[in-house]
Amino acid sequence: MSFSSDIKKELLSYNYTGRHCLTAALAAVINISGYVGTRDSHRFIIIHNDNTELIEKTADIIYELFGRSVSIGKGNNIAIEDQSLISEILKATGVKDSADFSVASPIDFYVVSKNCCKRAYIRTAFLCCGSISDPHKHYHIEFVDNDYEHADSLKRLIANFGITMKIVERKNHFVVYCKEAELIVDLLNVMSAYRALLELENLRVVKGVRNNVNRLVNCETANLNKVISASVRQIEAIEYLARQNRLDQLPDSLKKMAEIRIMYPDASLKELGEKMTPPVGKSGVNHRLKKICEIADKLKGDNNYG
Ligand SMILES: [Zn+2]
Repeated sequence: MSFSSDIKKELLSYNYTGRHCLTAALAAVINISGYVGTRDSHRFIIIHNDNTELIEKTADIIYELFGRSVSIGKGNNIAIEDQSLISEILKATGVKDSADFSVASPIDFYVVSKNCCKRAYIRTAFLCCGSISDPHKHYHIEFVDNDYEHADSLKRLIANFGITMKIVERKNHFVVYCKEAELIVDLLNVMSAYRALLELENLRVVKGVRNNVNRLVNCETANLNKVISASVRQIEAIEYLARQNRLDQLPDSLKKMAEIRIMYPDASLKELGEKMTPPVGKSGVNHRLKKICEIADKLKGDNNYG
């Protein structure tokens, strides 16, 4: 089962209590998965979706709203030819004739004036044409619409909840989509897809922890690089002193320090100190190595300008 089909299962089990929400849901199904046409001066409505449960639920909604049963034909189709039922459905849902290209917004905003009805419309739109990527891979939710006007009004409807979606054209379809995890969580909340929401939030927590660990590891690596470049500098200074036959002239404490540094090039200051006899603290080691570098630098300066 994909993440999308899990969500759809959850959304399909949602029970509407008011006629207003049922009407909004039916409007979404007809606008997205339906066609309203005229043949021989008779109107007809065809509703088709690959999701069998959605088609069954639509038949139930029509029965609940209008008290009329519609049959589901082959290929998940509902064909309505009863003229009075069609009039009632179109009047209630505000769905425009598919041939009427003059309408500004295919969504009748009177039908979705209540918040619960906006959510019912969006929820049903997702059932009709929505999908969501597996959040383990990436964050992406989309509604694939075949009508630009409808895609645009869906985008505006979702914007009512402070969620900004984008539209892109893909193979003659208009895709209303979003890639931001936080907004996807908000949208799942609007659709009442609570199980999916929790799953996504848990995943975000895990990912967040992992990012923090990565940040810490990077930080440690940066420290390690600092240790190594300091060691390289100190060893260069010691080797320079050795080439200049000055190592023997160093006070014993520094000479011993230099030997240990050369023997353990990747040891930390603390580790170097532990190898000294008697052991020396970290700041003592730091002080001695600094001193060695200074002596080498001074000698280099003298040799260059002397
Ligand atoms: Zn409602």
